[in-house]
This record gives sequence, C-alpha cells and structure tokens, in this order.
Amino acid sequence: ESLDKGLEKSKTSFFSKLSKAVAGKSKVDDDVLDNLEEVLVSSDVGVTTTLKIIDRIEARVSADKYMGTEELNAILREEISGLLSETNLGNQTEFSIPKDKKPYVIMVVGVNGVGKTTTIGKLAYQFKKQGLKVVLGAADTFRAAAIDQLQVWADRVDVPIIKQKMGSDPASVAFDTLSSAVKQDADVVIIDTAGRLHNKVNLMNELTKVKRVMQKVVDQTPHDVMLVLDGSTGQNAFEQAKQFTKATEVTSLAVTKLDGTAKGGVVIGISDQFQIPVKYIGVGEGIEDLQVFNKYEFVDSFFN
Ligand code: GDP
Repeated sequence: ESLDKGLEKSKTSFFSKLSKAVAGKSKVDDDVLDNLEEVLVSSDVGVTTTLKIIDRIEARVSADKYMGTEELNAILREEISGLLSETNLGNQTEFSIPKDKKPYVIMVVGVNGVGKTTTIGKLAYQFKKQGLKVVLGAADTFRAAAIDQLQVWADRVDVPIIKQKMGSDPASVAFDTLSSAVKQDADVVIIDTAGRLHNKVNLMNELTKVKRVMQKVVDQTPHDVMLVLDGSTGQNAFEQAKQFTKATEVTSLAVTKLDGTAKGGVVIGISDQFQIPVKYIGVGEGIEDLQVFNKYEFVDSFFN
C-alpha cells in the first residue's frame, strides 16, 4: 500500500502513456509497438532494455498472429518481471542481514546529493528497529556537511557514529569504525564514503584503500558495496552506475527519490543492464520512506 503511494507519480504516468500507446487499436501492430517503445524509453527504462522488451513482445506477437491490445498489459508485466528475475533479485520482503556475518559491513557509495546519507539513516533505523546493534562510520571526510548530516541521522536514530574531522583519511575512519564495532559487538556497520566522480582514478584508489584497511579488522569486508542512485535523474543514474562499477565491485543498489519522479522505469533498466540487484528503494524524505525492493510488488504497482 505504501509502495503504491510512493510510486504514485510513476504509476499514473506509465499508465496514461501506455493507454495512449494503444488508444484506438484493438490489435498489437507496429504502431502500438513503436508507441510502447516510446513509453518505455520516456519512463527511463533505457534504450537497451527497452529494445530487449520490444523484441520479446514482437516475437510473441508474430508467433500469435493476432494479439489484442488488452493482452499487452499482461505480457508486458510478464516480460518485465522476467527481466528482473534474471538479475536474481527482489524476492526479499524484509530488511535483513545474514546472521553468520558479524558485524555485517555495508559500504555505501554514490555521488553527492543522490540521497546517500538519508538512505544510511533510514537503513540504520530499520536495523535498529529489529533490535540489531548498528554503528555508522563517517568516511566521507571530504565535506564537513557530509559528516554533520550523518551525525544528525545518528542522533535521530540513536546509534553511535565514528567520525574524525573533515579532511582526515577516509580509510582511517573506516578502520576506527570497524574496530569500534567489533569492540561493541555490533551487528551492522554502515560506512559512508565520498563520491567525487571528477577523478576516476582517485575514486578507485580511495575505495580500494578503504576496503583494504577494513579487511585488516574484519576479514572479507565489506560484505556489501551498495551504490545509491537518484531514480529521478534517468541517464545520469545510468552513467553513475557505469562509473562506479568500473571503480569498484558494486554488489547492490539503492534507488532513491522514486516518489518524486514519473520515471520509475529506471529501476528496470539499471538492474537489467548492470545485473546488480536493487535492494532498496527510497520513496520519500521521512525515516520510514525506504522499502525493500520486491520485484513482484514493483511490477504490480504499475500494472494493477
Ligand atoms: P547525499 O548527499 O547523497 O548524502 O544526499 P542526502 O541524503 O543529503 O539527500 C539529498 C536530498 O535528497 C535531501 O533533501 C533528502 O531529504 C532527499 N532525499 C533522499 N532520499 C529521498 C527519497 O527517497 N525521496 C525524496 N523525495 N527525497 C529524498
């Protein structure tokens, strides 16, 4: 229900466009497919993924000879869920972490402004609500505001934060955070990092160093490298995914601000193109406005 509400804009827009795409047609023909292609691209599904979907529908249409437009919804829904399944994601319904990794370490990456800090705060809140002991690490030492903002969230959620002054070594903050977490017997560690894209080599070196230093404290960490993307930025989000996956091994995605966009299709395109699971979606600025991404719910929110 709240997912529906958060995605209201995407949903309404997708639907009205889709019904325009088939208006006046009883049969799926080239015209309908062209219009559908347009709807998908303009919903930020991305060209590659859109063409994949259109190809599959075309194949079904030609096998079927006659396909009514009323069937199109059902088939589209099937194809989109299928595509999301291929990324092996989206079956979870709860915020959960593996029990056998303690502390479970999440390193959060992404450029400024995408909602990194907010997502970390919301996640900390969810984990704490489950009775888990959470520690935050302010390893985005490049901006004073980043440290302050994370502190605001740490206070709001009431979890400890490890920080140093602006300009200090991010790897050193990460090291301190993990050491403290181990000492406190914490369950989850969430590390914020700086995402300056203007220098790819720097970004790669910094993330590599942060990881290496963390591994001195806890083996095989981080367990999850989560890239945060702003879902309302379309092609920018694709571009950032491309850059970050080159700089480090990204293992999950959080897509934010889906409440403010008519283009929720970005979730479909990005998970298809990068084959990285979308774990969470942000649907508002409030502490509760983070949801575990569930592909069935997501696709249904468009088609119900
Ligand atoms: P950071 O620079 O990446 O750490 O970004 P912040 O976490 O500071 O967020 C930037 C702005 O985006 C803030 O005003 C947040 O309230 C807002 N924001 C973050 N996530 C969401 C979301 O899911 N929906 C909406 N509407 N706003 C969000």
